[in-house]
Amino acid sequence: MDSKQFREAAISSIDDIVKYYDTIEERRVVSNVEPGYLRKLLPEEAPQNGEAWADIQKDLEAKIVPGLTHWQSPNFLAWFPSSSSFPAMLGEMYSTAFTGAAFNWICSPAVTELETIVLDWLAKAFGLPPCYLSTGPTNGGGVIHGTASEAIATVLVAARDKYLREATSHIADEEEREDAIAIRRSKLVALGSAATHSATKKAAQIAGVRFRAVPVHAEDGYRMMGSELGRVVRELRAKGLEPFYLTATLGTTDTCAVDDMDGIASVLAELAPPGKGEIWVHVDAAYAGAALICPEYQHLARQFDKFHSYNTNLHKWLLVNFDCSTVWVRDRRHLTDALSVSLAILKNQHTDSGLVTDYRDWQIPFGRRFRSLKVWFVVRSYGIEGLRKHVRKHIGLAETFAALVKSRPDLFEIVTGPRFALTVFKVKGKGEGESKLEEVNGLTKALYDRVVEEGRIFLSSTVVGGVFAIRHNPATPLVEEHHVQKHFQILAEAAEKVLL
Ligand code: PLP
Repeated sequence: MDSKQFREAAISSIDDIVKYYDTIEERRVVSNVEPGYLRKLLPEEAPQNGEAWADIQKDLEAKIVPGLTHWQSPNFLAWFPSSSSFPAMLGEMYSTAFTGAAFNWICSPAVTELETIVLDWLAKAFGLPPCYLSTGPTNGGGVIHGTASEAIATVLVAARDKYLREATSHIADEEEREDAIAIRRSKLVALGSAATHSATKKAAQIAGVRFRAVPVHAEDGYRMMGSELGRVVRELRAKGLEPFYLTATLGTTDTCAVDDMDGIASVLAELAPPGKGEIWVHVDAAYAGAALICPEYQHLARQFDKFHSYNTNLHKWLLVNFDCSTVWVRDRRHLTDALSVSLAILKNQHTDSGLVTDYRDWQIPFGRRFRSLKVWFVVRSYGIEGLRKHVRKHIGLAETFAALVKSRPDLFEIVTGPRFALTVFKVKGKGEGESKLEEVNGLTKALYDRVVEEGRIFLSSTVVGGVFAIRHNPATPLVEEHHVQKHFQILAEAAEKVLL
C-alpha cells in the first residue's frame, strides 16, 4: 500500500467508521455468534500474495462485525463502559503514524514531555493533592499505563521493594541483607477488600506475595471500613505475617462502593506509620475516578496526600479510547528504585544528566505507546467543562433509571445506588428469610437471562452478599434519556412475565 492507496483506503475507512457510529443503535448490541464461528469463515492458511484493500474491507463487515459486541451502543450497559470519542481516535491515528517504542526521553522527547504535562493538568483537574504533581513537593508525578491491572502490579512491586528495603536497612552486610530480604519476602501480604477487583490478587500472584481480603458488609454499603482493616492487620501480624500493601477502591466493580478513606488513613497512621512497617496504600479508581473531574466529588480525594499512589482509567468513562490508565505516585523514586535497569545500549547523555524522565523505569514493559496524544486531543477538544458535562449527564441518567426502578416497587428493589451512574437492582420477591433469598435470586437470574438472550440491551450481573443482582450502567457517550426509558421498559415488561 503506497501513500496514495493509503489515502483512499483511509478515507473509505473513515466513512465506514462514521456510518458504524451513526447506525450503531440498529445493531444487536451483544454478538450471538457460536464459539469457533470465525474459523469456518477464514481460510486455513495465510494468503501467499497481498490482497486489495477493498476485499479486506468487505470481509470486515461480513466476517468480523457479526462477532463484535457493540460497546459504544446506547444499549450497552454491562460491566463498566469503554469510552470512545472522535478526538481520541484521531490521537490513536497520529500515534500509530509516528509509531516508535519511546522507552527513553531521547526516543522522542515530545512523547515523554506531553505525558508529564497532561498528567499534571489532570492531577489538578481531579483535585489530587499537589504531592502527585511532577513539580510537587515529594517527587511525585504521573504516567500512563495500558490498564489498571498493569498499574496495580507495578505499584505493588514498588511497594514490596520499598518495604523490604526499609525493613532491612539496618543490616550492613550485603549478603546478610539479601538473606533477610528473601526470608521476609515469604511473609509479605498484599491486602484489598473482598470487593476489590481481582487485579490486586493477580498482582500479588505476579509479585510472589500472599493476598488477603478484608471483609465488607451490606450494612456498610460494601465499603472496606478502617476498623475491619485494622482488625485484619493485627491478626496477620499476630501470625508473624507482614502486610505491606493495600488497594483501597474508589468505586468497586460490583456496586461502585467507595472505601472508608478517612478510617483507612487514621487506622494506618496508628498501626503502620512511616518508618514503622508503613503500608503502601494504592487507590484504585479505575472507573469512578472520572467523577473527580467534577468539584462536587473532589472531597473524596481529601486523604490522598497520606496515600502513595492512585489510578483512573480514562478509557472507562472519560472519552479516551482504550487503552489509557493514568497512574500517579507521591514519590516516583520508589518506582525507579524498583524498576530501573541500566544497560550499555540505553546509555545517553540526557539520562546521565538526570534532567529527563525515562518512563521505562515507571512501568513493566520496556517500550511504550504515545498515549498522551489522545488524552491531549480529548482534553483540548472538550475542555474540563465538557468532561464534567459528560460525567454529570450519566449521573443524571442513572438517577432517572433508579427513579423508574423505584416507581415499580411491585417488580423491583434497588440493592445499591445509583452510585457513579451504576444502579444495582433485583426482582421483588414474596417469601421470607432463606427461601425468599433463593426465590428472588432465581427470579432475578431468570429476568437477566431473558433480557440478555433477547439482545435488545446488554447488562451484566453480579452477586453481592449472596444476592444475585443486575447492574445498569448507562455511561457510554451515545446514551440519552429516551434510551434509559427504553431500557427500563424492556426490563419491566420482562419482569412482569417472569413474575407472572
Ligand atoms: N479496578 C476496578 C475497580 C475495575 O472495575 C476494573 C475493571 O473493570 C479493574 C480494576 C481492571 O481494569 P483493567 O482492565 O484496566 O485492568
